[in-house]
Amino acid sequence: MTRTLAAVAAEAADCTRCRLANGRTQVVFGVGNAEADLMFIGEAPGFHEDKQGEPFVGAAGQLLTRMLNEVLSLDRGDVYICNVLKCRPPGNRDPQEDEIESCTPWLVEQVSLIQPRVIVTLGNFATKFVLQTAQGITRMRGRTYPWHGRIVIPTFHPAAILRGGGETSRQFLDFRDDFDLVRETLAKDPEGRAVVVPEGATKSEPFTVPEAEAVPEEQLELF
Ligand code: URA
Repeated sequence: MTRTLAAVAAEAADCTRCRLANGRTQVVFGVGNAEADLMFIGEAPGFHEDKQGEPFVGAAGQLLTRMLNEVLSLDRGDVYICNVLKCRPPGNRDPQEDEIESCTPWLVEQVSLIQPRVIVTLGNFATKFVLQTAQGITRMRGRTYPWHGRIVIPTFHPAAILRGGGETSRQFLDFRDDFDLVRETLAKDPEGRAVVVPEGATKSEPFTVPEAEAVPEEQLELF
């Protein structure tokens, strides 16, 4: 029988699969709508997220929430927000290979249970990990990628926007454009037709989007 997202989160709360269990305040599994069409994936919890148990609650998270509200007319509770790593690396250092490997099954379960139509990867790390690319975010952003029957839209990490000059920067305009692309993508089906959701309808089966790029066999099984 398929487990619910809440059951998976409860199990993850006691996770000791890697060394990050030793230094964390708590596991930051993810937050939002378990049936969301739109999912955000960041890198790893930071200081505030580790304390509060919720992803993207610090300054970067506030910018993310603002973009959700202003560009997509959505609240945090309408989407699902999580990270590749569920525990804070000490001093916010980069995630290590074995930590990523240990944590990936949680993300796989999240994607499999939520079945989002569109996934936004926030920043270099999440984009490289999800799309299995060596290309940096500046090259990758600004377009959509078919991915396991879903659509991935990479954009800058909101913390990079805050560090890089804020709202007057070129990067911020690009970031906003990427949210416009998310809105347009959510409003269409895979053939580019406008999506009309009948009132009271529940979430449909996940769309199947033709795979445009080779995906490693072992990953196909995961998602
Ligand atoms: N940065 C991330 O990548 N994730 C968070 O949850 C917070 C900051």
